[in-house]
Amino acid sequence: MEARAWMEVDLAALWGNYLFLKGRAGGEVIPVLKADAYGHGALPLARFLFQRGVRRVAVATLAEGRALREGGVEGEVLLLGSLHPLEAEEALRWGLTPTLSTLEAARALAERARALGLLPRAHLKVDTGMNRVGFPWEEAAMALKAVEALGVRVEGVYSHLATAGEDAAFVEVQKGRFLEVRRALGEAYFYHLENSYGLLLHGGENVRVGLALYGLVPGFGLRPVLRLLARPTLVKRLKAGDRVGYGGEYVARGGEWLATLPVGYADGLPRGAVRFVRGPGGGLHPVAGRISMDQTTVALPGPLGLEAVFEVLSPDFGPTGLVAWAEARGTIPYEVAVHLSRRLPRLYLLEGEVWERVG
Ligand SMILES: *Cc1c(COP(=O)(O)O)cnc(C)c1O
Repeated sequence: MEARAWMEVDLAALWGNYLFLKGRAGGEVIPVLKADAYGHGALPLARFLFQRGVRRVAVATLAEGRALREGGVEGEVLLLGSLHPLEAEEALRWGLTPTLSTLEAARALAERARALGLLPRAHLKVDTGMNRVGFPWEEAAMALKAVEALGVRVEGVYSHLATAGEDAAFVEVQKGRFLEVRRALGEAYFYHLENSYGLLLHGGENVRVGLALYGLVPGFGLRPVLRLLARPTLVKRLKAGDRVGYGGEYVARGGEWLATLPVGYADGLPRGAVRFVRGPGGGLHPVAGRISMDQTTVALPGPLGLEAVFEVLSPDFGPTGLVAWAEARGTIPYEVAVHLSRRLPRLYLLEGEVWERVG
């Protein structure tokens, strides 16, 4: 790649993760592409997944769904965020499948559909214990009846787990409630429940997965799919006592070399949590001083040319992996992933070939 910094997404690894999850689920695996596919790029991934025969994908917001349509994606797109009545018309116009948690939204969807001559379709969200959105599970049958009476075609019914990976007993409570809902509503609908940890730890039938699809769950044989690479814009030798970067925190012993890489926290590197980068030979080099918005300085044992490629983010669970960054930062991998750069060019690679280039 003729660039000073870029990201690579390994589509073969992504597909491997998808097939692994598909093997675990009894039914459909819905790839969750919200927040720009957790920083991996929603549009290329949607194109790739639909091309491979995936039946539907999910995003969080109307704008995310619309961006897929504007990018030429024609497949089924489920909006996970509960529809606001003000969004009904746009959801219909773009052919996106909204989630209903309120009768107000259902009414708006039905009314706008009538005015536009379009069919109002939706999934019903049922709250089985998360208490965020959804019709209360005890009232699901009533809610379904009311929504259908408005003329909305309910195609799917789903709920979301609050404690997968944290409280197994409560997962079972939610699964039990969802099963009761399913018994009450009957088999005419497409039911989906588990997220990544729900599927991996408890099994599932129809599931919506994000984190595991991107390989950011250690311990199951899943593989991270994203790499961030950078070439130095400057390499120089430090004198004893030279101070590096904001605050002058790194003080040179003298004789070490410094490489300045053109990526920083604006590209998603969590300050204080990125401690090493991998050099061209695979060795780990310590970050020297504070990470800046656009630049990161690294201490090297010897000189390197400006063509050298450093792996800043590695597709593994080692010290340069995203899961390690999140841990060092005291947060969850989701949060680190969604802050990954939108300004770096990206290569989508499939078996060594460039499948798509963005930026
Ligand atoms: C984000 C999200 C998911 C995917 O969660 P992961 O833990 O990334 O698998 C599934 N369902 C809903 C409703 C979500 O908002």
